[in-house]
Amino acid sequence: STKQSVTVIGLGPMGQAMTGAFLDRGYDVTVWNRTASRADELVARGAVLAPTVEKALAANELVILSLTDYDAMYATLEPAAAALTGRILVNLSSDTPEKARAAASWAAERGAVQLTGGVTVPPSGIGQAESSTFYSGPRAVFDEHRAALQVITGRTDHRGEDPGLAALMYQIGMVMFWTSMLSYWQAVALADANGLAAADILPHAVETANSLPGFFSFYAERIDAGRHLGDVDRLAMGMASVEHVLHTNADAGVDTTLPAAVVELFRRGMDAGHAADSFSSVVELMKKAEA
Ligand code: NDP
Repeated sequence: STKQSVTVIGLGPMGQAMTGAFLDRGYDVTVWNRTASRADELVARGAVLAPTVEKALAANELVILSLTDYDAMYATLEPAAAALTGRILVNLSSDTPEKARAAASWAAERGAVQLTGGVTVPPSGIGQAESSTFYSGPRAVFDEHRAALQVITGRTDHRGEDPGLAALMYQIGMVMFWTSMLSYWQAVALADANGLAAADILPHAVETANSLPGFFSFYAERIDAGRHLGDVDRLAMGMASVEHVLHTNADAGVDTTLPAAVVELFRRGMDAGHAADSFSSVVELMKKAEA
């Protein structure tokens, strides 16, 4: 038959959403999950639950992996390694670029090809046209299976042959996501100590967050040019500001781990002689030291 088919291994919230998207598009979907009961709803919608990992791998050339991390992948696939020959493993489990590279070699040694993926949306974004996933690994394999990958997210961004690149782009997004979300928790804690609820500060928090892309764009060009001009902001001004932030949080009796870390980085910039430069000069202290 010409019907398209795919295997999905790992039925957390993401794997479940992916399986659902493939079923909605009329794919034959074989699934496997360590905890078999997580397949129940999908089987009711037409998915086939493979009794073993071997059978899940044998069912289709194209195998989507949606596991917690790469250790979970080894735990799942190692015992079934003989069934890996000829498989294309689209690994959408998140982990470090180094782990993604090692896994691509591991797969190749067993006759399989890994395409690394980094999905940038939560389960609700799976199957949506505007959602996007980073991929890296063999371009020809990516091109050949693009239609299936576009079922997962409508936009697909192949970054290059290096299997670590998709994981790197994912991690670049995640370092921003986690630290930014914690900056919001800090604001909520400060508000709470002053009798304000999260809902009370929501419009202000949203406006503040929405102002950030303009700063990214403004500084990107200057950073790449190595120009940290103090024409619109000076580190000395920033130093005073972040100390006000630290003291406001300390006075309120909330946790100061985050603002103290910011003060520490600004202090190092001041000590390095950047008082009259832009606060963007701090990025030079954060970059990998040149050999
Ligand atoms: P979960 O961690 O909830 O899914 C975990 C899946 O991995 C389950 O199927 C679980 O099986 C399986 N698993 C974990 N450890 C093992 C193991 N040792 N052996 C076998 N199976 C194992 O993750 P999500 O579905 O939320 O996400 C999947 C991946 O996608 C993760 O890497 C995540 O970082 C990434 N991601 C998640 C997003 C989100 O919003 N959720 C957004 C973007 C990326 P069992 O059911 O038996 O526990």
